[in-house]
Amino acid sequence: MIKVGITGGIGSGKSTVCKEWEKLGAVVFYADDVARELMVSEPALRQKLTDAFGPKTYKADGSLNKAHLIEEAFKKGRVQELNAIVHPEVGRAFQKKSEEVADEGKNLIVKEAALLLNKGRPYDLDVVVIVLSESKNRINRVVQRDGVTREEVQTRIEKQPDFDQLLHLADYTIVNNGSLDQLKIKASELYQKVIPSD
Ligand code: ADP
Repeated sequence: MIKVGITGGIGSGKSTVCKEWEKLGAVVFYADDVARELMVSEPALRQKLTDAFGPKTYKADGSLNKAHLIEEAFKKGRVQELNAIVHPEVGRAFQKKSEEVADEGKNLIVKEAALLLNKGRPYDLDVVVIVLSESKNRINRVVQRDGVTREEVQTRIEKQPDFDQLLHLADYTIVNNGSLDQLKIKASELYQKVIPSD
């Protein structure tokens, strides 16, 4: 069983690569989605977040008060603290999912995450893939995908690592500056390379 991490900046095309791999049979663990789910469903995590960011972290109906958390974590420079609380839970969930997938007899699992290389290369992954794309392409795509302004995308890009500087941590790089079809072909070619042959 091999564990593959796929990362890249916002709009680079990493979810598209993962969707292609899913079509080819891969199980993909979308770390950001899982983090959002666990922040609501996991009582111990809810408690830790409430202790750190105050009772306003959750609304009366139990849902996450995103506006409050954005204010506390992003505007007050406490993102690292937030990550330090949430990421261990996501790591445990990935471990559990990997065990389930292995028990089903599958030989590959993928973790898709924007924050994958912030502490160097993760010890629990066998293969790391970075999806790279020029920022003008990324901005255009995210404006179209999410209906946000160019400035908003630019701000989010500036908060992310410069993946060009992290290539030494990756086994493979996919450059996505061509068409969507070209990206899908590159994704499928890479899948054939990394999938164990047994
Ligand atoms: P990420 O997961 O890295 O944020 P996505 O895979 O969601 O990026 O891609 C962002 C958007 O851009 C999606 O709507 C996707 O369909 C589109 N997209 C990705 N690559 C290309 C490309 N080469 N040409 C055109 N559209 C693309």
